[in-house]
Amino acid sequence: MADASPGSGQPETTPRWPRIVLKLSGEAFGGGTYGIDGTVVRQLAEEIVSARRMDVDVAVVIGGGNIWRGMHGAGAGMDRAQADYMGMLATVINGLALQDTLEQLHQPTRVMTALHMEQIAEPYIRRRALRHLEKGRVVILAGGLGAPFFTTDTPAALRAAELSAGAVVKGTHGGVDGVYTADPKLDPTATKLDEITYMDVLNQGLGVMDPTSITFCMDNGLPIVVYDALTEGNLGRVLNGERGVGTLVR
Ligand code: UDP
Repeated sequence: MADASPGSGQPETTPRWPRIVLKLSGEAFGGGTYGIDGTVVRQLAEEIVSARRMDVDVAVVIGGGNIWRGMHGAGAGMDRAQADYMGMLATVINGLALQDTLEQLHQPTRVMTALHMEQIAEPYIRRRALRHLEKGRVVILAGGLGAPFFTTDTPAALRAAELSAGAVVKGTHGGVDGVYTADPKLDPTATKLDEITYMDVLNQGLGVMDPTSITFCMDNGLPIVVYDALTEGNLGRVLNGERGVGTLVR
């Protein structure tokens, strides 16, 4: 496909960050159930294209929980590392689905994997990923870190640091549009926070991202934005810094 990226036009506004790592969970891909919901993937892909139209470089770290999570296998008596490798493969399936959908929208992409599988994706090489981003391609990072005992939150943080992204933007689904004082599905008095510190997230055990990735972001001064990825136009609002959209962790 030619690299006539939708992002090559004039940006309409100045976005908050010129480059982001977007963390999308596998659960979002499944529309809350097992497998891949094409309508939801299309919606997410359109959001990514809108970020490219703002001339923001986008690397997507993709989860796999809609297909397999290592903890499920481990809970059923499997070897944890083996089960985690299965989870990493699940993220590749989602990555290929997102690539297909983005390219239907004429957005050039590259899938890069932390586990080598050259027939379907490039191996993750930092300098090559940077080059793709500079050329306006959306880089889909699959396979997590390529190591068991992690979730895809940690590679989202790590890749953001090594690719000089301005922030980790974590898309939620299921109507939760940021970080709350308590679980809004269980506690009706829970209120949404516009901003919170890394330490408060860690100390209060808020389920923003896993603690390893929060600590990494804190150590490397990487802001995190948690927002509802399935509300149309929301990624653009996050990038424009609109008040009341999502929660900023810094
Ligand atoms: N995984 C792993 N190492 C990594 C990233 C992922 O072992 O660096 C495995 C782990 O089993 C995890 C699964 O892949 O449960 C799917 O990723 P994740 O749970 O982050 O998916 P999400 O919750 O975002 O859908």
